[in-house]
Amino acid sequence: MHEISIAESILEIAEEQARAQNARSIQLIKLRLGEFTTIVREALEFAFEIARQGTLAEDAVLEIETVSILVRCAVCDRATQPVVGICLICTVCGFPMEILTGEELQIEYIEVETEEEWIKWKLSQKELPQGQQSESRSRPTS
Ligand SMILES: [Zn+2]
Repeated sequence: MHEISIAESILEIAEEQARAQNARSIQLIKLRLGEFTTIVREALEFAFEIARQGTLAEDAVLEIETVSILVRCAVCDRATQPVVGICLICTVCGFPMEILTGEELQIEYIEVETEEEWIKWKLSQKELPQGQQSESRSRPTS
């Protein structure tokens, strides 16, 4: 379950930013999660519950926005949402399509509480490493 390490990365980034703002606590973490990732939302939420114990985000709300898959044909520039399963071949010219959206794993913003005020802090969509995907692409040399 690589969601644990992802949850830890999320908390690491969020805490780092919260500390930079002298925040007492993190109120909310807003994530964008693409449909075309290996990350299971429920597993990530579960992992987050465990990983946040003792962090600044102990009482934070984890808000996850699902980003649907959008693909584009490099030949005819047709952008479409794959309807049946995930077919990445252009129905017009039969060429493989490039993925426009759906691979996201980003922290969009966090909300923190400081001594004086609440701050909604935009992370300008910081992309998180998705360890599992690159691991599954590289094969062991045995
Ligand atoms: Zn096409």
